[in-house]
Amino acid sequence: MAQNFEFRAGRLSLDFVNSIYERQADGTVLPEHEYLTTPESLQEWFKQKSQPTISSREWQDFSASSLEQIKEFREQLYALWRAAVQGKLRDQSLKFLNRILADAEPQQLVRTNNAVIWQVTPPKPVVSRIIWPIVADAADLLVHADLSRLRFCAAHDCGWIFLDESKAGKRRWCDMSDCGNRSKARRFQRRQR
Ligand SMILES: [Zn+2]
Repeated sequence: MAQNFEFRAGRLSLDFVNSIYERQADGTVLPEHEYLTTPESLQEWFKQKSQPTISSREWQDFSASSLEQIKEFREQLYALWRAAVQGKLRDQSLKFLNRILADAEPQQLVRTNNAVIWQVTPPKPVVSRIIWPIVADAADLLVHADLSRLRFCAAHDCGWIFLDESKAGKRRWCDMSDCGNRSKARRFQRRQR
């Protein structure tokens, strides 16, 4: 049965680095905590996110090594967001993104449903076309968002990153009803002991 993915971060490029569960405190991912274990799971992730990618026929030829490339990209992106949350963003952190951006030229504007999005001009390798919307979103977020609103979920065993778009700017958990309640329950148990 297909995994039910959660999208709590508010942005594509943040949700994508959350495509694992219980990221370790040092940022690493235990293999058994990986959601994207097969090309099918990656395809399913984008489907549930309602994010257009490559055609079904191209997905049939999508290889395990391409999946590894995409996960490598995800971990570079995670390192970037981690640095941003910690206030340690440097030119060096942006290097991999700039490389992809330079390689993705030329781009074009394409209409999808009710929106207009940036798209790399085909032909490009499938990996580039899959990660491109994530790259575009990351670039947009870096340029336009208030990076001081990027946060780690406060639940100690979660490790997800989100953009706090609440009015007061005091959002602490990726999801109040899940991580928030778990943290509160734990505090309550501690007080009982
Ligand atoms: Zn959380």
